[in-house]
Amino acid sequence: MATNVIFLGVPGAGKGTQAHILQQQYGYRQLSTGDILRENRSARTALGRAAEGYMARGDLVPDDLIIEMVRESLPNGTKTGIIFDGFPRTTPQAQALDDMLNETKRSLPRTVYFRIDLKEAERRLLTQRQRDDDQPETIRHRFEIFAEQLDELKAYFSASNRFVQIDASQPVEMVTAQLLRTLGLKARPVGV
Ligand code: AMP
Repeated sequence: MATNVIFLGVPGAGKGTQAHILQQQYGYRQLSTGDILRENRSARTALGRAAEGYMARGDLVPDDLIIEMVRESLPNGTKTGIIFDGFPRTTPQAQALDDMLNETKRSLPRTVYFRIDLKEAERRLLTQRQRDDDQPETIRHRFEIFAEQLDELKAYFSASNRFVQIDASQPVEMVTAQLLRTLGLKARPVGV
């Protein structure tokens, strides 16, 4: 059974960068709820229209919408390892994810928390400014919401020994190395 993993961390912690590396080099498949929501918003689907107000404010989109969306986005077949990026954000989402992975005979994910100083994360976001919700106020609000949810998610995953944290303020290569150790993967020589 493929290993599944959850990336947890504030925007700007580097989850997307690391997901890209695991995807390119280790055959993982990233499932980013933020990306799926943004696609739906651009395509003006019913889901996109329901979610856009929450997203603009940096608030969480209601659990039932998100859970259904993830259920429909799971890749076919169970051989590919999935990186859940930006999901779950609440305990009900975490519970629903475990249930749907159990039902589809997939392995329960381990959660990797990308720990980073908020000032550093904010600096990274403001220098990149890739998204329309990367405004100082929305960023701070997204950080607040994250801090509110972190304790309960940490408690949920720690209870089954599935919570590990890595130091996400390090340079990209060092974060990757720590991540690979955590996942029990071997580092690939550069260029391969
Ligand atoms: P992200 O790209 O993960 O920062 O997500 C962008 C926005 O999409 C968030 O600020 C939320 O409004 C919404 N969102 C993404 N993932 C979730 C989730 N798992 N639960 C609730 N809202 C979410």
